[in-house]
Amino acid sequence: MSVLVFVDHTQGSFKKKAFETVNYAAETAKRIGGGEVVAAVLGTVSNDELNLLGQYGATQVLHLNDARFDNFNARAYSKAITAAAQQCGAKVIILSYNVSGKSVAGMVAAQMKAGLVSGAIDYPTTDNGFVVKKTVFSGKAFAFVKVTSDVKIISLVPNTFKVTKGEGSVAVAALNANLTDADFGVKKVSEDVIKGEVPLSEAELVVSGGRGLKGPENWGILEDLGKAFGATLACSRPVADAHWRPHHEHVGQTGGTIRPNLYVAVGISGAIQHLAGVNSSKTIVVINKDPEAPFFKAADYGVVGDAFEILPKLTEAVKKF
Ligand code: FAD
Repeated sequence: MSVLVFVDHTQGSFKKKAFETVNYAAETAKRIGGGEVVAAVLGTVSNDELNLLGQYGATQVLHLNDARFDNFNARAYSKAITAAAQQCGAKVIILSYNVSGKSVAGMVAAQMKAGLVSGAIDYPTTDNGFVVKKTVFSGKAFAFVKVTSDVKIISLVPNTFKVTKGEGSVAVAALNANLTDADFGVKKVSEDVIKGEVPLSEAELVVSGGRGLKGPENWGILEDLGKAFGATLACSRPVADAHWRPHHEHVGQTGGTIRPNLYVAVGISGAIQHLAGVNSSKTIVVINKDPEAPFFKAADYGVVGDAFEILPKLTEAVKKF
């Protein structure tokens, strides 16, 4: 029985979350009784890069080396992943619970008539059927979902497991998907690439600002802290809605879902819609001048005080480490 893992790349190179999903697929294969770990890769990626997947647990790569896949397209991607699953006879399909994984998982599930657990945070168990743990109610509870369909699909929340690298090698074969131009439907006309920062979905350290910072002119003190930590910046929704910060930084129910090792929230009240995107962070530090701010209930560490006084001091302290 093989496990298929869809491996995303950014302009031909794999990022940490890609290796994490391959690790997860390899461990899942072991736990459900062995079998091939087949990585599906779409678009232009060099053989050297494909071979890296062997070191993270893939035993085979199905590569669709077609430049039309260099731009994400949910319909075409879902069809190609379905074709890969059929080609290798996969009974379990694994994707990352990132933007592209979220977009295609449901489509692949419909095409394969498969049950889907989206946002998994642990490996499946098989003692009492095929059961996968996920968070529900914005991280306030867990659900254990039993999947009874023949083919099972899991999307894994990024940054759930530590990535481990080994020695393995991988056999690369062509993925046969036979897609026509009509399958691509949508054409990308431009792309803004944000350079420099680790993308939020990958970031292990995140520094985030809310309306308590009063206006975009004050973001310098948050950026200084972000630089001292080497962290990626995020913000609450009203901040993005007011155009103080770009929308890709907005986290929460209607923004990005993140799971960094450290989330520092500055001048953010901690509304349930904000927490929905961040409360799986491993350590949460809250800086807020209101001791009653709801965020303190979700915090591991809290500082009651004025951000404008605390941030410069914190930045200086972090720089000393
Ligand atoms: P505020 O609520 O205005 O809080 C500002 C905080 O800053 C306060 O706690 C205050 O005590 C503190 N403060 C003020 N001055 C200082 C200072 N000098 N130093 C330190 N602290 C200070 N919100 C999201 O963030 N993400 C979402 O995805 C999201 N989705 C939503 C979806 C729906 C359907 C709805 C209805 C709402 C959604 N919201 C979302 C909005 C959410 O409900 C809150 O309104 C929002 O998160 C509040 O943002 P904030 O904490 O930055 O601002």
